[in-house]
Amino acid sequence: MSQTIFSKIINKEIPVDIIYEDDLVLAFQDIAPQAPIHILVIPKKPITNLYSVKTEDQALLGHLLLTVKMVAEKVGLTNGYRVVINNGSDGGQTVEHLHLHILGGRSMQWPPG
Ligand code: 5GP
Repeated sequence: MSQTIFSKIINKEIPVDIIYEDDLVLAFQDIAPQAPIHILVIPKKPITNLYSVKTEDQALLGHLLLTVKMVAEKVGLTNGYRVVINNGSDGGQTVEHLHLHILGGRSMQWPPG
């Protein structure tokens, strides 16, 4: 997998507003928020997207979701929020490093565009 902007964020070569970090994951503010609260949760392991996850990533994938829950509580999203993974080209993925969007602070619409 080639170097992405998220690799540079993980390596602290590009500054971001970090909400949470541990050995496995990083959560930070999206640079172009689509809701009053828009946070990205990414694995530090350079996984391109859901096409490239492996069985050995099971615990990491669970950790990403538990991080979403913890971060949402930390920023006060008590009235609901949306979690999005844009996967691959048709999914609208623009950065080829797996990431979960946490969107909240307003009522979401359905279906998405
Ligand atoms: P995707 O479209 O791939 O699902 O989402 C990529 C997200 O990364 C977008 O919401 C975009 O705003 C965000 N993003 C891209 N570059 C940067 C950056 O340099 N810093 C931050 N904080 N977010 C970024």
